[in-house]
Amino acid sequence: MLVRIVLIHRRPGPNRPSARYTRRRLLGLAGGALLAAACGNTGVAPQSSRAREVVATALPLAPLAPTVRPTATPRPVPPAGRELRTLLAGSEYATTAMLSHSGIEGPRVLVLGGVHGNEPGGWLAAEAIADWTVTRGSLVVVPRANVLATYAFARTLDGFGDLNRQYPGAEDGPPMARMARAIVDLAREVNADLAVDMHESWGFYRERTPDQNGTAFIGQTVTAVGSLTQRNAIRDTIDRVNELLSEREQLTFRNRTRGRGRAFAIDPNFDGIGASSLSLGTFVPGLLPILVEMGQRDQPEERRAEIHRTIVGALLTEREML
Ligand SMILES: [Zn+2]
Repeated sequence: MLVRIVLIHRRPGPNRPSARYTRRRLLGLAGGALLAAACGNTGVAPQSSRAREVVATALPLAPLAPTVRPTATPRPVPPAGRELRTLLAGSEYATTAMLSHSGIEGPRVLVLGGVHGNEPGGWLAAEAIADWTVTRGSLVVVPRANVLATYAFARTLDGFGDLNRQYPGAEDGPPMARMARAIVDLAREVNADLAVDMHESWGFYRERTPDQNGTAFIGQTVTAVGSLTQRNAIRDTIDRVNELLSEREQLTFRNRTRGRGRAFAIDPNFDGIGASSLSLGTFVPGLLPILVEMGQRDQPEERRAEIHRTIVGALLTEREML
């Protein structure tokens, strides 16, 4: 397999000592099966004979405060290896999850792509991340959570429900309510500490005008719901990633810990149906949810996917998983 490594960095400047960039931290030289673009409802990952480009990102490394809460009780450590899982096997919307276990206790990170089928930067990035192998903890990737919507290039399909408004899901609900339940079950099973849900918006958050609020203008943002320590750690991550991005691409951190409404499951009247992935910490004890949005306007699809990969790579690198 031909693997081309693309380093993303700016020239070393007075505030960016080059010594901080180290090849040991390169991402993505993952072995194992390739999860090809056609991952679908068969549960089998087709092998691609085509050379794959694995984008590796070197990031500045600096001492970090712990970002993962200490675990009170020992968790079972899955044996090292890769595992292919089918969520909702047997249904037409069954989709694949790739689990990479290091065999060593460490962070458990869940990555979601394809929650919305018309946001390809997220699911293209997730398919690449599914190839990564971790050296500590576990990485669990669901590249195309609403797989039929990705084929249709639509947010979702009629009657399926919007997956990002279905948590914690229901076994007997519409298809995406069932998928939300399957994702929650998977996160609980692996004791996920962190969930990264990769999306796309249209406009850039920093370029919006006063009349352009709402989810169509949250491109280039990272939103988290968590403790102050956790949020500060995510801000640090974003600062590091921003060092690698152009002025226009700069990411904005959005804190929604005090958010109200169904999307966050923080509303005291919340009845347990209809939340976004930012609610996952409510349903999976100890899990920190992060929602990443790339801006589609005037930003090529491959670049959006690349920035998604860079963010996840930074989160995993900081946790010494790569
Ligand atoms: Zn979305």
